Amino acid sequence: MNILVINCGSSSLKFQLINSDSETVLAKGLCERIGIDGSLTYQPAGGEKKQQDKAMPTHKEAISYVIDALTDVENGVVKSLDEIGAVGHRVVHGGEKFASSVVIDEEMIHEIEACNELAPLHNPANIIGINVCRELMPNTPMVAVFDTAFHQTMPKKAYMYGLPYEYYEKYKVRRYGFHGTSHSFVSKRMAEIIGKPYDQTKTIVCHLGNGASVCAIENGKSVDTSMGFTPLEGLVMGTRSGDIDPAIVEFIANKENLDITSVLNILNKKSGVFGLSGNLSSDFRDLENGAQNGNEKAATAQRVFSYRVAKCVGSYVAAMNGVDNIVFTAGIGENDGKIRELVCENLTYLGIALDAEANKKRGEEVRISTPDSKVNVYVVPTNEELAIARETVALL
Ligand code: ADP
Repeated sequence: MNILVINCGSSSLKFQLINSDSETVLAKGLCERIGIDGSLTYQPAGGEKKQQDKAMPTHKEAISYVIDALTDVENGVVKSLDEIGAVGHRVVHGGEKFASSVVIDEEMIHEIEACNELAPLHNPANIIGINVCRELMPNTPMVAVFDTAFHQTMPKKAYMYGLPYEYYEKYKVRRYGFHGTSHSFVSKRMAEIIGKPYDQTKTIVCHLGNGASVCAIENGKSVDTSMGFTPLEGLVMGTRSGDIDPAIVEFIANKENLDITSVLNILNKKSGVFGLSGNLSSDFRDLENGAQNGNEKAATAQRVFSYRVAKCVGSYVAAMNGVDNIVFTAGIGENDGKIRELVCENLTYLGIALDAEANKKRGEEVRISTPDSKVNVYVVPTNEELAIARETVALL
């Protein structure tokens, strides 16, 4: 079956058409600047990547262009919509309602809408994508796959904040965690690689991309993760601060004469390694170049980032009272050997030994610990689109 995977943002939309039998990507692309002017990037498998400006006042035009591109006589990969068996939608927040993916119907849309206030920047856009696809492809079944669902197995001791209990009861203020599709995909693959049953492994996944989070997966279940009520909690990220003393918000607001929304905007968009590097870059390739050229702030940003990952991993060893596997994934985790090395330097107490040669590899599945290392350390590339396609097929 061919599955169209849609990741819809407020002004952009990423898509992949995946054949679920061969697990290959037939075509992929991106609509950008929806509601502003609009552009479509489309690439069929083995073909050239093409970008075209197209007027996209709303998501409806964007998805129409995607369908046109996929069914185009010359560059398309299917003859008609009938060859698209289902659509899998990434949805950011499923609150406490969704502990797994669901087949989308009218009732489910209302239930997802009820989670909107927990992710006001993301969920409404996800729902627009769902509604437009339902309008344009009324006979195609659709599935929602939530970023938060995998973490619904966290125990209460891990998801409650030290806040008045009534905020949880009244407003559902608690830790939810994100990147669940990736943490689940990568930890399952890890169990496959070492040939152990998924429900008998203790794995820590470090998903280090622009957004970054660590997850402790004990016997196939997420028991703790570093992002919380929002993706701002936890690690230092590309532009997000991660954990800080909450009192800093008021202090900076007073000093810089800003309101809370403006300070939060700085914590989300101007902080992290970008802010730490003196606004040099949020990209780790630029930080490494900077550090090589003697930029102290860039070197500090790399060290703060890795130290925080190592501390988080250490705390998850405590959470699970042990660990069998540590896995690096996403843009930085898959490509940046130096960051992996810096993280593992603080973990030698676990009996971890890195294989320096293997750690030089980029973007491929590889064991980077030595054979006598007490804990397996691996790089496993994540593939959230394939995970969504698999979930979609499994549900239908
Ligand atoms: P997201 O999906 O959260 O946008 P990705 O997982 O694609 O992020 O990761 C993007 C980040 O990965 C980039 O900002 C960059 O810091 C890092 N990255 C990508 N390629 C490399 C590389 N070759 N070396 C070091 N870092 C890299």
